[in-house]
Amino acid sequence: MSRHDPAAALARPRHEFGEHGGVNMCIEASSTFTVMDPETMPELFAGRRGPEGEGCYLYGRHFNPTVYELGAQLAALEGTEAAYCTASGMSAIAAVVMQLCGTGDHVVAANAIYGGTYALLKAFLPAKAGVRTTLVDATDPAMVDRAVTPRTRLIYVESLSNPTLRVADIPALARVARRHRIPLVVDNTFSPLVLSPHALGADIVVHSMTKFISGASDVIAGAVCGSREFIGSLMDLHTGPLMLLGPTMDPKVAFEFSLRLPSLPLRMQEHGRRALAYAKHLRKRGLEVGYPGLPEHPDYALLRRLASPGYGCGGVLTVDLGDATRANALMNLLQNREGFGYMAVSLGYFDTLMSCSGSSTSSELAEEDRAAAGIHDGLVRISAGITGTLEQRLAQLDAALDELGTPAAGAAA
Ligand code: PLP
Repeated sequence: MSRHDPAAALARPRHEFGEHGGVNMCIEASSTFTVMDPETMPELFAGRRGPEGEGCYLYGRHFNPTVYELGAQLAALEGTEAAYCTASGMSAIAAVVMQLCGTGDHVVAANAIYGGTYALLKAFLPAKAGVRTTLVDATDPAMVDRAVTPRTRLIYVESLSNPTLRVADIPALARVARRHRIPLVVDNTFSPLVLSPHALGADIVVHSMTKFISGASDVIAGAVCGSREFIGSLMDLHTGPLMLLGPTMDPKVAFEFSLRLPSLPLRMQEHGRRALAYAKHLRKRGLEVGYPGLPEHPDYALLRRLASPGYGCGGVLTVDLGDATRANALMNLLQNREGFGYMAVSLGYFDTLMSCSGSSTSSELAEEDRAAAGIHDGLVRISAGITGTLEQRLAQLDAALDELGTPAAGAAA
């Protein structure tokens, strides 16, 4: 299995500096670009010239130099030939699926996926584009294999599923995809650096950059990473969904991201360290915890085999309080009495975020699909922040759990 070192790739020598030798790149805040001679314009429209190599740009909804450079950094992170950034994670996912599928085509997707992706695949695309999706338990690659039909155009999974934190066996799923000559698309939102899906066999990697890559919950953004040919096809003037539907990343946002990517390795390490400590602590208090860094997690061994060394097991954990009333009581205490974190959806923020997935980010799932994915009413998803000291945070957690009446640490194995 080829190893990709994402932090080393991010630290590669830079090829984009600011005007006047600035250490940071400049923001190209132009929606349109001049050509020096009139012959260039038709060449650009015909796709014979472009940003690659010669740095020819046409229009901001097509390629923008600042967004293009950020794309190169995302490609380095994921070890793909190319990447481009978008206005949201959803637009990145939608563009990939729409590019690969036409009316009558079919997708095989994991049944444990983000609620918005579920709604896109199960409700929006069948109604608007005649593209159907079969959801399967993707932890069983044989089941994925059996669900593929002659009309299947892609297999879609999340590297670490939202919110159930099941680990995709990317090499096994890639073998299934290769056998059927279709691409494996992996959403790596939950595990940048921790997992490198392309090195493990995935063809296309998508991200909601809104989460860990941003780290500040201040912008909505996404990315598609893949072959140069595929990224180029998304921008085709006649058929490309990024060009024609226009979910364009603002170059000022791209610039902001270029300042955050260098700290992503350190941030992921600390998110992972905190999440593991909280998971162990909650388990010691007898609670049902989901975290792939705990040996009792069904995918512990798989994650150890697939993960890039040094980045832990991800910054998200779950705790099942049994019912929504207790789950809400815990979150309420943790936010309003202890100041441990916030009741808010999303993840990857520098402070801790907590939400009941079943009634929020997975509420789009039909009841039977929620049950099949193991999303119970009492399941709280916790995105571990990196602020405060760990000791301070564990004390806050303990105080809330004491109030809730869970056994003290050490009382249960
Ligand atoms: N993929 C995953 C795994 C997510 O959790 C989310 C949002 O929560 C998305 C994609 C969508 O991303 P965005 O909100 O940036 O459109």
